[in-house]
Amino acid sequence: MKPAAFDYIAPRSLEAAVAALAAANGDGKVLAGGQSLMPLLNFRMVRPAIVIDLMHIPGLSFIELRGDRVAIGAMTRHADLEFSDIVAAKLPVMAAAMRHVAHLAIRNKGTIGGSLSHADPAAELPMLAVFYGATIKVQGPAGRRDIPAEDFFVSALTNCLEPEEIVFEIEFPVLTPHAGWAFEEVARRFGDFALASIAVSFGLADRRIADARVAVMGVADTPRRLREAEAALQGHQGDPEAAAEFAEVVRSCLTPESDIHVSAEYRKNLIGALAEKALATAWARAAGPAP
Ligand code: FAD
Repeated sequence: MKPAAFDYIAPRSLEAAVAALAAANGDGKVLAGGQSLMPLLNFRMVRPAIVIDLMHIPGLSFIELRGDRVAIGAMTRHADLEFSDIVAAKLPVMAAAMRHVAHLAIRNKGTIGGSLSHADPAAELPMLAVFYGATIKVQGPAGRRDIPAEDFFVSALTNCLEPEEIVFEIEFPVLTPHAGWAFEEVARRFGDFALASIAVSFGLADRRIADARVAVMGVADTPRRLREAEAALQGHQGDPEAAAEFAEVVRSCLTPESDIHVSAEYRKNLIGALAEKALATAWARAAGPAP
């Protein structure tokens, strides 16, 4: 199918893009990499009066280390994150996750700002934003505001942006000293959206887990940070008993739904299995083989 007719502009500044979006009175859409928006337009699932292309706005594509944070411009492509030395060194869970995002052709076009704004519950970058406790920086007609990632995702494909707001930057805290980390995902085919996925990281104190962080996706209508599961890891080691207990806590935090791909029960079992695997991998990275 072809999209319904729309006006198109390609502003040269963020301010001009926000002004155009505000002038559209809720009937405008910003275009980033187009990997989600173009299919929606083609299937006429969205019919905006105007499409505002962010591609020609300078200064929206960058990856910068700023002290204990990594700042990423909203128009930074998935492939730039995948191959970035800064991401590899400072955000290793993101580095591991990026090759699971669709296929290379899509990663060459899709952007982090587009992925977060699209808010797919089985997309890697929204989950990583929640996992790292990222701050999403947005600009609207009244100025800029910072949104914690956990507040950004409201439900499946719905974020908390006002209609005239645009994401321009995302700041990820570096989790130091988290020597133990893992990212596990299962999709029907490599590159498909995940059936379920988990990210885990922690530091060690006296060879015991400290300051654990756990987030999941594909098992709820938004990505979720699991504080109960984080608490369950505290003070433990990566032995099989701890891994089994961790998996049980992760399962108990979630009530996934059945869909055309798999049943709710399958998803719940899957996320538990991924949790066990993630803990074993993270522990091996931090401390060597399990005790
Ligand atoms: P666009 O498609 O341009 O925009 C998406 C939405 O976000 C639109 O509503 C747009 O108006 C809005 N938007 C864009 N930028 C901004 C901004 N800066 N501020 C406010 N709103 C904005 N993703 C995954 O994470 N994992 C996968 O496994 C995966 N598999 C895929 C497989 C296929 C076949 C395809 C086509 C896509 C897949 N994707 C996957 C989605 C892909 O990652 C997209 O790139 C991403 O979801 C959207 O990014 P985009 O830059 O293309 O945004």
